Amino acid sequence: MCSNTECSVENRTRNSATIILNNINKIHTKGFSYLQNLLQRYLLSKTMPCLQKNCYGIISRSINLGNHIFIEADTLSLNSTTYSCLLSDIPVKMDLNQKKYALVAVIHYVSFHYMTYVRRAYGKWERHNDLEQKIKKIKSIEKTKVNPHLLLYIETND
Ligand SMILES: [Zn+2]
Repeated sequence: MCSNTECSVENRTRNSATIILNNINKIHTKGFSYLQNLLQRYLLSKTMPCLQKNCYGIISRSINLGNHIFIEADTLSLNSTTYSCLLSDIPVKMDLNQKKYALVAVIHYVSFHYMTYVRRAYGKWERHNDLEQKIKKIKSIEKTKVNPHLLLYIETND
């Protein structure tokens, strides 16, 4: 609610699954282990001036996380410089707002083509690429280079 008791504006709560981090470039210097930190900051509720006419109150904005979160990572690659990392660099588990999330997919982009690295419940990785005949099992995530464009996490109990 607006801090002005005579104003009818409600607090803003957003239920978007897609997360665009405007400071994701911190990962260039701090590495992907910094992702949870960036997300925790993103989730902090923020206050802003009420935009109602003639109101000088303050409203707060907060974000609710659902069962799925999509983190846009394409902006890590800018000005034709491709950002790449190892699949093992991307955090598999994250704690956000008292919920636990597990990484289930990394959308990889190279040469105008998307493919998906899928992390199965038992922890094994696969590469799904429509230009390949078969689903490829990933033997070593420490040796698999990716250009992450989108990360998909789902809520888990463990
Ligand atoms: Zn107001």
